[in-house]
Amino acid sequence: MRITVHDDFKWRVTLEVESLKPFDESVFRRQPSEVILVEGEASRKRRYAVAYRAWKRLVRMVEEAAAELGLQDSVSEVLLLPSTESGEPSVDLVPGADGNLVSLRMCPIETVHNRTGDDEPLINTVRHELTHPRDELDLAFGYTAALRYELERPIGWAKDPIACSCGKGRQRVNMTHCFGELWNVNIDGRLQGRGVSEATRRRGFGATFPKATDKHLAVFEDLWRPVLVPCSRLVELSWEFVKDRVWTYEGMLTARR
Ligand SMILES: [Zn+2]
Repeated sequence: MRITVHDDFKWRVTLEVESLKPFDESVFRRQPSEVILVEGEASRKRRYAVAYRAWKRLVRMVEEAAAELGLQDSVSEVLLLPSTESGEPSVDLVPGADGNLVSLRMCPIETVHNRTGDDEPLINTVRHELTHPRDELDLAFGYTAALRYELERPIGWAKDPIACSCGKGRQRVNMTHCFGELWNVNIDGRLQGRGVSEATRRRGFGATFPKATDKHLAVFEDLWRPVLVPCSRLVELSWEFVKDRVWTYEGMLTARR
């Protein structure tokens, strides 16, 4: 298994490192040539070295988590990309000519700010994200093309808080987010404290399903166990959640994979 760090990720980490250090006012008291050649070059290299260590550390975490999850043989490449504007991590499994490719989007800011601190939250996030492709490749999970199609079928219209301001007001929604949130709960339930924490997961569940009743909260408890819940069951549960209308569009928007 090969891990490739995309240039965009390196660039975003480097920018973040640049922004960490307050601008050194003493440069104003020096000659421009001295600043550029001595201070400028040296500090730029130093900052680059900090950025390099930050993404190398993340690469080691991906290696470690992939080995734990037994992905080395079934995945040929992990491509590390920066997260989109939301900053939330996400992952995709893409079948390729040379085997399965996993594109993993991680937050460059979190990568840098964790560089001297506790490694645990970041590797737990990596472990959570890589469990998605691991499940997809697991026949017992049963993530088929037909089920995927069912999840992407529009289930209706919902009020769109963003579109409202520009006059549209409503947007089609599908079951992907609902399914994703239930899948997340089962993933972290199985990881037993080595994935996203229970408190964070409960907050995510509450945000996605703000109208959840005791019946829906019982589903959380049921999924929060070290037992793989097959994809077909998660789809069934998603339909129930959708029919019970316990979600809101805002919740769907903020749901993380
Ligand atoms: Zn997830």
